[in-house]
Amino acid sequence: YPFYDSNYAPLPMKKPQQVTTFGPEDVNRNPSFSVSISPTNRIPVNNQMNATYQQSSQQSTSAAPLNQQSEGGVSYEEFRKAISALVDKTDPRPDLADFKLIGEGSTGVVQAAFKVSTSQIVAVKRMDLRKQQRRELLFNEVSIMRDYQHPNIVHMHSSHLVGNELWVVMEYMEAGSLTDIVTHVRMTEPQIATVCFQVLRALEYLHARRVIHRDIKSDSILLKRDGTVKVSDFGFCGQLSDEYPKRRSLVGTPYWTAAEVIAREPYDTLADIWSFGIMLVEMVEGEPPYFDDQPLQAMKRIRDEPAPRFSSSARVSHELNHLLSRCVVKDPRDRATARELLQHPFISKMQHPSCIAPLILQIQNK
Ligand code: ATP
Ligand code: MG
Repeated sequence: YPFYDSNYAPLPMKKPQQVTTFGPEDVNRNPSFSVSISPTNRIPVNNQMNATYQQSSQQSTSAAPLNQQSEGGVSYEEFRKAISALVDKTDPRPDLADFKLIGEGSTGVVQAAFKVSTSQIVAVKRMDLRKQQRRELLFNEVSIMRDYQHPNIVHMHSSHLVGNELWVVMEYMEAGSLTDIVTHVRMTEPQIATVCFQVLRALEYLHARRVIHRDIKSDSILLKRDGTVKVSDFGFCGQLSDEYPKRRSLVGTPYWTAAEVIAREPYDTLADIWSFGIMLVEMVEGEPPYFDDQPLQAMKRIRDEPAPRFSSSARVSHELNHLLSRCVVKDPRDRATARELLQHPFISKMQHPSCIAPLILQIQNK
């Protein structure tokens, strides 16, 4: 894809509440980086946002789409053609029935539907090509799940161009996200280890293929009723290569972002391991460190303070404390890899995936 740069990340479709800019006095190596502060604090940000948002807000204060100009010199028609060359050529609609909205994200909507030919319920992510803040990121949505198949990565059945919408038909994760669990119930250490094992298997697989997910957090982990855990939401991925062994752009969700990413140092797949460590804090405490701070303040603390640990009131085992201390390490050279973490003593506390099922029942009854 000649014009594809996966350094780009999308802007939220909803107008940001507030845009804050780091001035040179704030971050010396980072003169023009801004974040949009979402109401929920859970929405990803990127450093392309600054220019695009400020440009458009100068033009008008209305919520007009920010992406009507052609990007990378590629017209809409050329972009549409490039997408259509990648997707299945069939019309998925005759085979799908009973659409029901199950989720909404920055790129579009996700609906559950009945797939007639296989009698399966599937999830259909529908993204309007014309309404993307960084439309080239849609290449991630089509190719990552297609090319990288693993039992702990949400499976993609097919992708299609329907009018001006990209449809990604994928397996339906009926038990929702890990966020639903960590914000409602406390997990036991064997349950945490069981989730960790499955997520680390997916990360080991992706990292071996030099893919950085760049938005690892409980929201990106989806569950099946049987306790199977899968990584989803590949819209922010970065593919490394010999030519580009590191990335530099600020992509991720503030509270989960690795110290070196915030410090604007070149980073690689180890940035996901930091975010995985922050997810450990979510599983123990229900939210990431510094969640009461504004995103910008939290990012400064991540960059400037010692790596966070479990709060002193959290009663966790030595093994779990040690696991966190191997993930949330400020210097990525001292951080463990996914493969190393799979050998960590804490992971041996894992049980059969079905040990997660009671948590799912608990939150359904809330
Ligand atoms: P954002 O940028 O806000 O992360 P997005 O546009 O990338 O959103 P997703 O995060 O992929 O969209 O999906 C939006 C929501 O739809 C998710 O929060 C999730 O709850 C739900 N969802 C996505 N995929 C599935 C699936 N395969 N099965 C069940 N629910 C899903
Ligand atoms: Mg997303």
